[in-house]
Amino acid sequence: MELNDSVSKIKGVGPKKREALEAVGIQTVNDLLQWFPRRYDDKRVITPIAELEPGKKLLVEAKLISRRYSGYRYKKKAPLALLADDGTGTLEIVFFNGSYLSNLFNVGKIYSFFGAVTENNGRLQMIHPEFHMAGDKDDIRGLVPEYPPVPGISQPMLRKFISDAMEAASGLEEWLPEKTVKKYHLAGPAFSLTNLHFPSDEKKILQGRYRMVFEEMIVMEAGIASMRASSRGAAGTVIDSSFAKEFIDELPFDLTEGQKSAWSEIVADLASTAPMNRLVQGDVGSGKTVIAETAAYCAVRSGYQAAMMVPTELLANQHYETFTHAFSKFGIRIGLLNGGMKAGEKKALLDDLAAGRIDIIVGTHAIIEPGVVFKNLGLVITDEQHRFGVNQRKLLSEKGREPDVMVMTATPIPRTLAVIVFGDLDISEIRSMPKGRKKIKTSSGYPEDRPAIYDFVGKQLQEGRQAYVVAPLISDSDSIDVKSAEGLYEELKDRFSGFNVALLHGAMAQDEKDRIMEEFGAGNIDMLVSTVVIEIGIDVSNATVMVIEDAERFGLAQLHQLRGRVGRGEHQSYCFLIVNNETEIAKERIAIMCKSSDGFEIAEEDLKLRGPGDIMGTRQSGLPSVKMTDIIRHPEIVARAKQAAEEIVKDDPDLTMEEDKGIRDRVMKAFGKDIRLEI
Ligand code: ADP
Ligand code: MG
Repeated sequence: MELNDSVSKIKGVGPKKREALEAVGIQTVNDLLQWFPRRYDDKRVITPIAELEPGKKLLVEAKLISRRYSGYRYKKKAPLALLADDGTGTLEIVFFNGSYLSNLFNVGKIYSFFGAVTENNGRLQMIHPEFHMAGDKDDIRGLVPEYPPVPGISQPMLRKFISDAMEAASGLEEWLPEKTVKKYHLAGPAFSLTNLHFPSDEKKILQGRYRMVFEEMIVMEAGIASMRASSRGAAGTVIDSSFAKEFIDELPFDLTEGQKSAWSEIVADLASTAPMNRLVQGDVGSGKTVIAETAAYCAVRSGYQAAMMVPTELLANQHYETFTHAFSKFGIRIGLLNGGMKAGEKKALLDDLAAGRIDIIVGTHAIIEPGVVFKNLGLVITDEQHRFGVNQRKLLSEKGREPDVMVMTATPIPRTLAVIVFGDLDISEIRSMPKGRKKIKTSSGYPEDRPAIYDFVGKQLQEGRQAYVVAPLISDSDSIDVKSAEGLYEELKDRFSGFNVALLHGAMAQDEKDRIMEEFGAGNIDMLVSTVVIEIGIDVSNATVMVIEDAERFGLAQLHQLRGRVGRGEHQSYCFLIVNNETEIAKERIAIMCKSSDGFEIAEEDLKLRGPGDIMGTRQSGLPSVKMTDIIRHPEIVARAKQAAEEIVKDDPDLTMEEDKGIRDRVMKAFGKDIRLEI
């Protein structure tokens, strides 16, 4: 078995299991070996009941001496209470809602129980422990890893697959330069994998973990460092930022402190001949567009063209409107490039662009098509970066000669992670909100609260405000009981017959969507029933209510984005999260939403809830995904890996030396065409 073999090479992995593994991104034997445990249960010793300490998670082996279940056919939710005795004392074991377990236990037999010990009226208890019948082959002793769940594959099965896959790891050789291994005291790759999956003691787990985090980080940091080294010295655009004052003075408001500080960082980049590569992070509503406009204004005044690329046509239209409004008095010409344009229209637009008759072009990724040619592109802005790959961003900047690049995102990423995800970018954060913004009042409700919630919505409409109602699906589905935009539209259109209710979703024709957004923006539509198409960027300040149906179906970042559609004006705004199916994770998400309105805080919580895997859309961003949540918990390892990467790149910017071959191969694999290492 080789590391690059498909997981189907492993004994017991048939088409079904293979599909289950692939669903979480495990395709090769190596992917499987990189599926690291999220924690370990210490099942090395059996503790006598007399020595149990409340508060600890311990392992007990004892004979069952009584079983009590007070449920019956019509009252199935009763607890199941067991009493176990190991000769040193007795332990009570409780399973709430124990009907389905009751038959699994036989008085007189010996079982092992692993769980947190609690004390209740002087009696020792374990609530919902893990249990096995004596002699069960899955009842393993030692430091037992618990893996992030793979739906359709049990923990023991996963353990067995990984154990088989280890065969491929045994021949793994050190690929990091010897000087790095020595200086940073790194354990070898085979040793690390073995001890992460089948550890004999805690120290070895830590050594293995340190190596794996370091390894993943050094590849990323070396890629980034090398990319930077190759773009250094390229003579780029020089934009005169002193024009900014003319534009800012005309704004109907003063810039916030956050906007000012972001702008001052941008000014330094614009003035330099090295191309700007800056990420501007700011929560929804923090006013990133003005910063983009100011930069675009300076670019145009300095004799360049600017391009603004956004992920959806809705957003393109909206930015086009805002830009036209902001720039018309300065005589700056704006163009809009959408996917659905008529051929004649499009040709005229492209001609104007190539001839320099358009100063700023706004559009979707249609802008990166080969036929789009600029006369003198000096500034590239992408909004909501997480939807674009690094590659797309690069394709756009290649349309100019080293233009400045500014990337804006409202998905706040904790800084430790942002450096990893957007490692090739400098980062500015807008952390303050425009003055006078009222905090959005967020509350959750159940389906039975809907009448009251919609009564409230009705009152807001009565007062002249507007509302969004969001559903997870476009159309009703036979197989799942989830609200759809179409279904809700039918319901709400009748309920609010005195108001203008409209439907908006991604499957509608583009001009229809445009028309509806325009009408909503103009205040002619009171209530917009929609799918997540309105998730990003839409700005209608008179809209004060956001109702999200089946809110448990949305992720935290998405909920926060959706909520950001309201609270953009002077009026108090409200967000209602209607929960239909309350799982544990949904409960936590909703609680965080009700408690916090700070996107950065929400992002941190999101990270904790999601665990390893695809963190905050790193996959879309084009950079390799970071598998280990440890990276967030151990920024010091990241810092050390970064230092090591810089040491390597300093001596060998293109990573061509023999000792750097291991890193180079991995950098190429991780970054692919996104990195200028092609030789
Ligand atoms: P986002 O950061 O989500 O893209 P926008 O740029 O759309 O936010 O700004 C949200 C709203 O706040 C817009 O209506 C904008 O005109 C307004 N705004 C931006 N900056 C300020 C400011 N300094 N003071 C008051 N209002 C502002
Ligand atoms: Mg925006």
